[in-house]
Amino acid sequence: MQTSVVSFQARVDAALADPTLKLAIDRTTGTAERKRTAAVAAFPQFEAARDRGKAIKDHVIEHLDHYLLEFERNATASGAKVHWASSADEASRIVVDLCRRADAKRVTRVKSMLGEEIGLPHALDAAGIERFETDLAEHIVQLAGDRPSHIVWPSMHRTREQVSVMFKKAHRVPHREETIEAMVDSARRELRDKFLSADVSISGANFLIADTGATCTVTNEGNAELTTSPPRMHIVTAGIEKLVPSLPHAFALLRLLVRSATGADVTQYTTFHCGPRQPGDHDGPEEFHIVLVDNGRTKMLADAGLREMLRCIRCGACMNHCVVFRQLGGHAYGGTYPGPMGAVLTPVFDGLEQSRDLAHACTLNGKCQEVCPVNIPLPTLLRGWRDRSWRDGLEPASMRFGLGVFTFVASRPRLYRLGAAVAVRVMRLFGLGGWIRSMPGLGAWTAYRDFPVPEGRTFMARYASGEGRRS
Ligand code: SF4
Repeated sequence: MQTSVVSFQARVDAALADPTLKLAIDRTTGTAERKRTAAVAAFPQFEAARDRGKAIKDHVIEHLDHYLLEFERNATASGAKVHWASSADEASRIVVDLCRRADAKRVTRVKSMLGEEIGLPHALDAAGIERFETDLAEHIVQLAGDRPSHIVWPSMHRTREQVSVMFKKAHRVPHREETIEAMVDSARRELRDKFLSADVSISGANFLIADTGATCTVTNEGNAELTTSPPRMHIVTAGIEKLVPSLPHAFALLRLLVRSATGADVTQYTTFHCGPRQPGDHDGPEEFHIVLVDNGRTKMLADAGLREMLRCIRCGACMNHCVVFRQLGGHAYGGTYPGPMGAVLTPVFDGLEQSRDLAHACTLNGKCQEVCPVNIPLPTLLRGWRDRSWRDGLEPASMRFGLGVFTFVASRPRLYRLGAAVAVRVMRLFGLGGWIRSMPGLGAWTAYRDFPVPEGRTFMARYASGEGRRS
């Protein structure tokens, strides 16, 4: 999926002007943060598990070619057909062609961000294939005609009050009570016959297990089983970085994933798929296809400045703890993946020129890396994008000029001190009650918040007088 054509600044303005969005974001990220903190506190081995998770992912990344071939061999032996897709377009074309070959009129989908990444919902709609999203949150997103705004809670930008109105309008037997349970029941009733009448099911995978050729999908609603068992054909789409050597490795990462994503000890449902229905099986698909997607991943593998991003297990913790995401929500990022991990990944998929603002929007406070269960140095990777943007000449002339002036002044101490002293005096002239509400040159800041008036003397003046050394 390409980055939105609306500018980043316009998306930010729209997000900041929406008080309902802020309420929805606060409810979800606040709960996620609390639950994760409690889950980590109750799991004293978390740091050791984190080291192990990182080591597993680094090992697989180092030997990706070996594990990909092992996975293909074992998946094929179990009766699956493995397809390779180098780009998003190729991946969605393979899936649509498979659906057409199965003469599919209706498909059911289990939430997968990779599906969004390759533009699958749009490709299925364009092919005239009726598509039903079976995750509760994705069902909401589909009804609203939205895009997911979070990788774990795709409809977090909607309040329950908005969802209630939507369900009452769209569901055949709407809920009567204004409770979450009643709304869930309403969605369940609405989706039941879709599960049973679909021709093809499409799911993602949290892990691809090399030594068995199985795929592993985790959900909290049980919709993976319901989606993938009745239809004639099951198609799994997965990024090539989802490989793990064996089942114990998948479980080691699962312990980190679930605590970081939802704060639970275990996911409600952990589903393994290994080949199509076998003689004697009561249900399961007649055909089982796995589409392995590159779409820029091998480029990241070859790039020392991005390689560590392949460790990502898509838990969403970095966005739940990000001060920028918590103000804007996911849509403002414009690409498939929001938050700090999205700010690193979007330039890979959509090009740096279209998405260079994302790295600049980061405060580099480091909280994302602190909570990342596989210790990805997200701030360092974002700084890397800033460097490339500068080197590629993508920064606007005003920024280059401003930084040039700053470099000139900052490298001449006497000039710097003089400039700082003048700036402090000018800022005091614009201050009122300790705050600057507007001032030439500070517009980008004061458009959204006041700026504090500098107090007392500058640091250099205090240091020169010996004040700092005495205290
Ligand atoms: S970057 Fe880390 S915290 Fe963010 S989604 Fe990926 S694994 Fe989770």
